[in-house]
Amino acid sequence: MAMTPAEQIHQRALDRAKAERLQTFRLMSGQYAVRSRKLAPGSFHVVSQDAAGALACDAQCPGYFYRGVCAHTATVERRVARERRSAAS
Ligand SMILES: [Zn+2]
Repeated sequence: MAMTPAEQIHQRALDRAKAERLQTFRLMSGQYAVRSRKLAPGSFHVVSQDAAGALACDAQCPGYFYRGVCAHTATVERRVARERRSAAS
């Protein structure tokens, strides 16, 4: 089955997150800092996860603003999935 445009955008973000290996730091439950590659070195975007598991980037991220997904949310999504797998094993 073909992917919808939204799914394609999401998949591209996941692929980009994998390629870029952005660093993530857990700030608290459901909140992560992801190192920015576009803003000044050392700056971070904050990705929040709501109770339903949906991820949102902060208001300074144009990619998230325009597409609803960005390298930062995708990076955290990959981390959460990895942690879920290792917790299950
Ligand atoms: Zn972002």
